[in-house]
Amino acid sequence: MLVIYNSISKQKEIFKPIYDNEVRMYVCGMTVYDYCHMGHARTVVAFDVINRYLRYAGYQVTYVRNITDIDDKIIHRAVENKESIQSLTTRFIQAMDEDLQALGTLKPDFEPKATDYVAEMIAIIEKLIAEGLAYVGRTGDVYFDVMQFEHYGKLAHKDLEALQAGARVAVEEAKKSPLDFVLWKLSKPNEPYWASPWGNGRPGWHTECVVMSKLQLGQPFDIHGGGHDLKFPHHENELAQAEGAYHQDFVHYWMHVGFIEINKEKMSKSLNNFFTIRDVLCEWRPEVLRYFLLASHYRSPVDYSLEALEGAHQALDRLYLALRGVDLNVEVVEDVVAEQYEERFKEAMDDDFNTPIALSVLFDLVRELNRAKVEGKDNVVALAQKLKHLAGVLCILTEPTEQYFQHSAANKMGIEAIENLVAQRRLARSEKNWVKADEIRQQLAEKGVIIEDSGEATTWRYE
Ligand SMILES: [Zn+2]
Repeated sequence: MLVIYNSISKQKEIFKPIYDNEVRMYVCGMTVYDYCHMGHARTVVAFDVINRYLRYAGYQVTYVRNITDIDDKIIHRAVENKESIQSLTTRFIQAMDEDLQALGTLKPDFEPKATDYVAEMIAIIEKLIAEGLAYVGRTGDVYFDVMQFEHYGKLAHKDLEALQAGARVAVEEAKKSPLDFVLWKLSKPNEPYWASPWGNGRPGWHTECVVMSKLQLGQPFDIHGGGHDLKFPHHENELAQAEGAYHQDFVHYWMHVGFIEINKEKMSKSLNNFFTIRDVLCEWRPEVLRYFLLASHYRSPVDYSLEALEGAHQALDRLYLALRGVDLNVEVVEDVVAEQYEERFKEAMDDDFNTPIALSVLFDLVRELNRAKVEGKDNVVALAQKLKHLAGVLCILTEPTEQYFQHSAANKMGIEAIENLVAQRRLARSEKNWVKADEIRQQLAEKGVIIEDSGEATTWRYE
């Protein structure tokens, strides 16, 4: 029985999909004007695991993640770079695809771009005006009238009056209330625009997800997710538009992913303490980064540190080491003990996708496997297969074992050079030239390469 923490009720709830066996999930994606940073990586990897686990659990999942390809930041960056908006966004969509693929994430089933749905956004804004929920402000921009939607604040659990009181006094003259948010923004000279009943302009950011989720998934749909910082105001504003316009529930389960922090401070562009995914992947293998992200529950904050990444690296080494020497390319073997680990793994994941507990189950399985190897038990293959299979649900342990160790530290002695020395040593051993064989072993050890002989065969790995 799957249980999900629902941000709107602030408690764990039993997951009941709207359509039997089907899950419709929408996650707010990236605004494509720069490289993706670690905060993006965390959200995308969290929902990738959720997507993969739901599929593993037998659900038919439709996963939608949008691309925001028009907004103020994009316009400013394009001007700064002296390039067209189209070329800027195309470039960063490609970079995003590369980064997310490196992290082992599955492509969503649909990736709608905001600029492809402007006509539909205009239609919902017209509907909101007709419903008395939106108005044309004094400067000609169109705003959502927060005071007219009685449930405003229900997602983020904010009280409208307290929000009003806390809002900056400098109310933009154009708006009735400082909380009102823009639905249609008139364009300034030299800005891109679309024609609308209110003049040439572009949609505000909060409208696109309402339109694109309804088109791809219907309303209501099952799961809406995003980073924790999107809960308010972005998701609150989406909810107000969708429920205000169509008089029915928007979403059944709201899921929000915690921040990445550095020294207990949120990692963010505005604080200028952020790393891009690319920065991190220059130093670390993608699988290490993925493991690091999965080692914490998706809702808790994660502290980014070199020690934590090194810890993730060592943990991965231990998982791969357990698989070493076991031939996995044989038919799947059933084993009662192995099945128990799968049950425990499911239990952890069914409890609001608790990946740290699921990983600890994998480590219990590793201990069992290592013991079975030493004792020469006949369930070694079954345990190893189960380890590989369950880790695969989280998309780790995906490399062939030897390849993993050989790529483990690309900046150390090159693979070709190592292979060459290992071959020379093999020859020396076959000639019973033990002195030379030991010399080569020593030479490799000085470069941080460890050699292990097992009968005729020799394997190697980085320290
Ligand atoms: Zn959104």
